[in-house]
Amino acid sequence: MKTVRSMILVSSDPLSMERGAQQVFESLEQEIRAFGLQDEISIKMVGDVGRHDAVPMVIVYPEAILYGPLQPSDAHRLVEEHLYKGRVAEELLAPVRELTGKLAWLSARRGTLPAEKRVILARAGIIDPESIEEYIIHEGYAALGKALTEMKPAEVIDLIKKSGLRGRGGAGFPTGTKWGFVAGTPADKKYVICNADESEPGTFKDRVIIEGDPYSLIESMTIAGYAVGADEGYIYVRGEYTLAQARLHHAILEAREMGFLGKNIFGTDFNFDIHIHSGAGAYICGEETALIESIEGKTGQPRSRPPFPTTHGLWGKPTLVNNVETLVNIPPIVREGAEWYRSLGTPSSPGTKVYTIMGNVNKTGVIEVPMGITLREVIAIYAQGMKPGSTFKLAQTGGSSGSVIPASLQDTPMDFDSFNKAGVALGSGALLICDEETCVIDLAKVLLNFFRKESCGKCSPCRIGTQRSYEILDAISHGKGKLEDLDTLIHLADSMYALSNCGLGQTAGTPVRDILKYFRAEVEAHIRLGVCPAGVCKMHVPVQ
Ligand code: SF4
Repeated sequence: MKTVRSMILVSSDPLSMERGAQQVFESLEQEIRAFGLQDEISIKMVGDVGRHDAVPMVIVYPEAILYGPLQPSDAHRLVEEHLYKGRVAEELLAPVRELTGKLAWLSARRGTLPAEKRVILARAGIIDPESIEEYIIHEGYAALGKALTEMKPAEVIDLIKKSGLRGRGGAGFPTGTKWGFVAGTPADKKYVICNADESEPGTFKDRVIIEGDPYSLIESMTIAGYAVGADEGYIYVRGEYTLAQARLHHAILEAREMGFLGKNIFGTDFNFDIHIHSGAGAYICGEETALIESIEGKTGQPRSRPPFPTTHGLWGKPTLVNNVETLVNIPPIVREGAEWYRSLGTPSSPGTKVYTIMGNVNKTGVIEVPMGITLREVIAIYAQGMKPGSTFKLAQTGGSSGSVIPASLQDTPMDFDSFNKAGVALGSGALLICDEETCVIDLAKVLLNFFRKESCGKCSPCRIGTQRSYEILDAISHGKGKLEDLDTLIHLADSMYALSNCGLGQTAGTPVRDILKYFRAEVEAHIRLGVCPAGVCKMHVPVQ
């Protein structure tokens, strides 16, 4: 890499690309050459920079000034003013002034308020996601080197157990324990699968991780392969994630060329390689056994369990299935140790969590914060409050199968055990923040509509239960509900939970149960009074 006085990063997440990031990049390159600065300035496209309100966004280092949203026609002004004359191009700055400066939008509040802590997103938006050299400069492959040359596989697993890392897919199962199950199953062949079929509505954290730092996933899977005794891995990526797939493909080729994948990695007798498998758009393929069926070329339907994939997985072999966010925690743990990892988050849920924030708030986007932060803190600090004139009513955590969180639970620490104790689930990391104009019946109807369409139909409690629940909610939303319908809804939710074959059916009733628990008066108003208190449902019953 050449030594330069300034580095320019151009955001290249899908929204930035849609809004002309490539043209902005090319115009900047052209202007840099026109001013004769090409030997002093380095410019590259990076992944998601963590803000979506001003993309395409450009960050100029070393000052780390944020400009955006930019048009190609802004390139001349930016290059002339900032890079040639050394003055900030004020009129092009990203809208919120206090968020500019050296990564200020991440660290300005550190020390006084719960700070965003980037561990797994540390390189996203900083390195060129298509340069393995930059990954290596930023501590890339240090963990794999350490694991392969200084640790035995059992020691790696022991380290992960000690770190307390829990799966980030939603269930929070201890990662080291899962690895131990696969390692402890004798077999002539084992696999590691990364579940990157991120299909929960509103969840896009894995996409941000992959697009910004694809190498970390490759390194993590390779360490996992070493620990459990696998020599082959698959990344099952959501079909719509075309940029993420392209970057993974590039990263795998580079890793092979550099000897980080293939035979005798780091001069040891460990061999490992990775394939990419593109999903075809079925939500259910995010379920680990449906995903395995899909890789095997079959219809993506969940298997009955037991046996579990840890002993009977891909092609009947012991298989480790982890999601993206879980896996990319591994290299920092191997590099820095279990004690360091446990210094982040809460005692029962160490580490950080990546959340996607959406809804009626001032600032949406992606954050990575220590486990245990509260919803109130997320809204006040990172989302910069509710939109003007709106007040918080509820949040839905974890996508469609997550819980509905009322205002009374806003101060519950967001970690696995605290949420479990409160009777709600953390889920995958999507935070949909809703104001008073959200109708709980309408919300539940949208979610059940999703589930009835995505149910694979293999088992009747889910196939029929989701459809029937939707029909009842639809009737209530049109003023045609009866009070006994509420008992039927609870009965359906309980039956789906107890009798469904997989997580989709088991959690499909969660939103219904939550709204009846926390917002029963609002639900009953639809039935008893024919009124939608939020003014959303088109009721056909005259108000008395
Ligand atoms: Fe299919 Fe639903 Fe049964 Fe899961 S619970 S296997 S999605 S029908």
